[in-house]
Amino acid sequence: MVPRRQLLTHVRRLGQVFARRGMGEHVRKLRLYYLALLHDLTTKGNDLDVKWTESFVLEWMRTLRIPPFEEAYEKRRFGSTCNRCGAVRGAPGGVLTECVFPGGARMRCQGCGSAWIEEGMGAGGAELNKPSF
Ligand SMILES: [Zn+2]
Repeated sequence: MVPRRQLLTHVRRLGQVFARRGMGEHVRKLRLYYLALLHDLTTKGNDLDVKWTESFVLEWMRTLRIPPFEEAYEKRRFGSTCNRCGAVRGAPGGVLTECVFPGGARMRCQGCGSAWIEEGMGAGGAELNKPSF
């Protein structure tokens, strides 16, 4: 594995060549990789594997009930049935766990498509509205 300082030098040189050749997309990706390297955000082997989008940010804000999205999904008790169509968890076409997070889950009804958050039973629920960064 190339020492990080040397790899940073390689990345800068490669970026300059990409830029001279008009390889803009490569330059943009390499800039992100450079910043990840610089701030020690890569994983073992100096890998950076990130797929993140605006929709991920918004959906996670709705899911974790972070203002101004705290009312986007209704908060219900664990094990709820669908309020709209009455579908139950585990039944064919019923309620599925769409994603889980510490302290809760986002549920979705396969029957009618409605979604809600089940959380607040135990530690961590209130803190989810107050990210520390
Ligand atoms: Zn439903």
